[in-house]
Amino acid sequence: MNQSLSHFVGNTPLIKISSLSEVTGCEIFGKAEFLNPGGSVKDRAALGMIQQAEKDGLLKKGFTLVEGTAGNTGIGLATLAASRGYKCLIVMPNNQSQEKYDALNALGAELVKVDPVPFANENHFYHTAKKLAAERADTFWVNQFENLANFQAHRDTMGPEIWQQTEGKVDAFLAAVGTGGTIAGVSQFLKEKNKQVHIRLVDPMGSGLYNWVQNKKMQSSGSSITEGIGIMRETANFKKAIIDDAVQVSDQDMLFMLYYLAKKEGLLIGTSAALNVFGAYQYGMENKNSGKKIVTVLCDSALRYQSKIFNPEFLKSKNLLGVPGTF
Ligand code: PMP
Repeated sequence: MNQSLSHFVGNTPLIKISSLSEVTGCEIFGKAEFLNPGGSVKDRAALGMIQQAEKDGLLKKGFTLVEGTAGNTGIGLATLAASRGYKCLIVMPNNQSQEKYDALNALGAELVKVDPVPFANENHFYHTAKKLAAERADTFWVNQFENLANFQAHRDTMGPEIWQQTEGKVDAFLAAVGTGGTIAGVSQFLKEKNKQVHIRLVDPMGSGLYNWVQNKKMQSSGSSITEGIGIMRETANFKKAIIDDAVQVSDQDMLFMLYYLAKKEGLLIGTSAALNVFGAYQYGMENKNSGKKIVTVLCDSALRYQSKIFNPEFLKSKNLLGVPGTF
């Protein structure tokens, strides 16, 4: 029996969110990705990209995995690296939650923090990781945004799991996008099984993808406290996605949902997950009493962000309320 850590990536439960299912007259499910060993949906991509690089001979014992990330991919890589004989060098913007830096330090990763700058700036975490990987010997630049082993991991694992867990009766899938790996992999798999499955992108404010999907303009307005999602460019992984439409969700709606799910459902999920569930609830209201099976992703846990989202001072500084809404 394979009992290594890598073996426990994926095969996550599909949890029915009862109260939202009842109020919408649909069935709303969340894929419990916070139960992965590294605590997020990015474990799937991290494992897929490591395995592909091993197969291609690009990664050998003692090598250093180098990656630019909002944190979750770094944690996924660092979680898997030690047991497979690799080191990790993780480049992150310096405005992410302290919990992610602490986890990476504990996992033994070397951490480089950079200012959060637009992608065009050469100091962006993406370019910094690429540069550091080129400067050092025995490195593998993971490059989750352009490395198609990312979307392939979701196509091979999360797509089939959702199909099986809904007994082929899924009507809609919704997800926010960081690299696009999740939505691309899952949408390709589900559309191949049934073209009628509706795929909706849920975008935070400050991201260009909502406008990109709706009218082919990479434009954004506002900003968001969500982490790991929302981009201003079309990545190779995102290009693989088959998307029907997109919605934008405000931080306040996301936060009401986050607090609501914790109190009413015992689901302590992170900000992108709460954004996703708000999108799923909205889709359910649009299709009220249709009995549709709506699936979304519970990307990670609220505990990864508690110094921000359970911190009244932080919320006040962002003009956000942390009280539960009514859904
Ligand atoms: N939610 C969180 C918290 C993430 O860290 C990420 C990945 N950065 C995503 C969602 C989006 O996943 P993907 O990269 O597959 O689009």
